[in-house]
Amino acid sequence: MKILKSVKRAIQQSKVFRYRTYKKISGVGHRQATDRIVFTTMISLLTIGAVAIFYTGEDKKLSNTELKEQTVIDSSIQEEVHEEFGDDPVIEEAPSPSLADLENKVILKEAVLKTFVLKSGETFSSFLKKSEITPELHAQITETLSSLININTLEQGTLLLTFMDNNNGFLGLAIPSQGEEVVAVIKEEEGSLIPFTHIGQVEIKQERIRGKIDRTFQGSASKAGVPQSVITQITNALSGEFDFRSNMRRGDVFDIIYTKKVTPNGIELDIDKELVFVGLQNGKKTVYRYLYKNEKGISAYYNPRGERGEQTIAPKPVKAIPRLSSKYGWRRHPVLMYRSFHSGADLACPKGTPVYAGADGVITQIGRKGAYGKYIRIKHAGGFETAYGHMSGFKKGLKRGSRVKRGEVIAYVGATGRATGPHLHYEVWKNGKTQNPLQKHVIKGEQLTGFEMDQFKAMAESIHPDYQEHRFGKNPPIPPKKPFNLNTKKEKK
Ligand SMILES: [Zn+2]
Repeated sequence: MKILKSVKRAIQQSKVFRYRTYKKISGVGHRQATDRIVFTTMISLLTIGAVAIFYTGEDKKLSNTELKEQTVIDSSIQEEVHEEFGDDPVIEEAPSPSLADLENKVILKEAVLKTFVLKSGETFSSFLKKSEITPELHAQITETLSSLININTLEQGTLLLTFMDNNNGFLGLAIPSQGEEVVAVIKEEEGSLIPFTHIGQVEIKQERIRGKIDRTFQGSASKAGVPQSVITQITNALSGEFDFRSNMRRGDVFDIIYTKKVTPNGIELDIDKELVFVGLQNGKKTVYRYLYKNEKGISAYYNPRGERGEQTIAPKPVKAIPRLSSKYGWRRHPVLMYRSFHSGADLACPKGTPVYAGADGVITQIGRKGAYGKYIRIKHAGGFETAYGHMSGFKKGLKRGSRVKRGEVIAYVGATGRATGPHLHYEVWKNGKTQNPLQKHVIKGEQLTGFEMDQFKAMAESIHPDYQEHRFGKNPPIPPKKPFNLNTKKEKK
């Protein structure tokens, strides 16, 4: 409201007035001054009343400038009066802590911020049980929060931030993503809990980190500040075309952009960090990859010309060095003792060894399947499928239709079904026929065209300032005279 604004401005201006008036009045006797003050107060109160009545009735008739002047005079008198009644002791109330105070404590390392994401089926009370907040406070927190929002309608994916002091004592709880506000429960100094709202939101910000490789890519990137989860996304995105252990050399350059979530007061949350660009200059070879979500909603990394990198299906998708206990092909069956065709490779490793997806794809089967025991089957592009048998268990949250990326853990080695010991029975299929998993199988990358390509270019340009250079080399044609023909130029190697 305009009136509120002008009053605020008037109060600020009146601070300049105050000093002058104070000086003037101090020349007069105390009694006289008091009289004068009582008089001015009455007059000013009357004026304010009159002005208020006038405004509520005929708001529109007054021009803004008139309004401002009027309020300035009134508040200056008010200030002056207030100043002179100095006998009443002013009770200084300690300001309640705010969300910003809690965030500052985190920056000063006087508090710890933890982030939770509400998963499917979880409620506010199941979150409380999972959190470190002492059970004695649960009811009070729930009650306080309920004065702000309906806690029964919190959706899957809701962010919950807890602030604990260094002795694990509760300081506050904040829930962003409630419209434009962050709602919170904050503990006051003397222990009571107060509801609190803060205009502002958790924002997604881009972070760019560049550096040189000293010894290993992982080590150098980590030293430069790239979060571990982002490093894993990079190695997964480029696995099958880049060997990070033996290919990278000292002096090679990396350029990494990822998105992160940041609180209204600038604290980086330790969740949802997503790699959106990676550039690696490896000797003479340069690789650039941009994250793009296609029209079907599938995210993948593309080179600057809108081609997805080729992907080699992992020959041994276990997080261990397995022993090949049975090859693909004809053999005498170890349990049934007759000649049979072994449709996969048996990779023996300790029970519980993580098994990962051999390539990007969609889970088409997950569950028990006869002699295979606990079994997963994944469909990939290019007519490929992979299957994993004898698992001891599946990665939580996976189901039929889940999308998985190459390198993502999907299950754990076991001996379920017909198995003599813990191993992964691994199958690779092409167009409905089993293949030898230990041979090289390459899934060709898809090329974006038409509208998707335009979308991709716009997105890539918004992510990286040098996109044009990545696409065309050092001297990008500005502007290209004819539509760029993708078949005539090759990516810079
Ligand atoms: Zn087998």
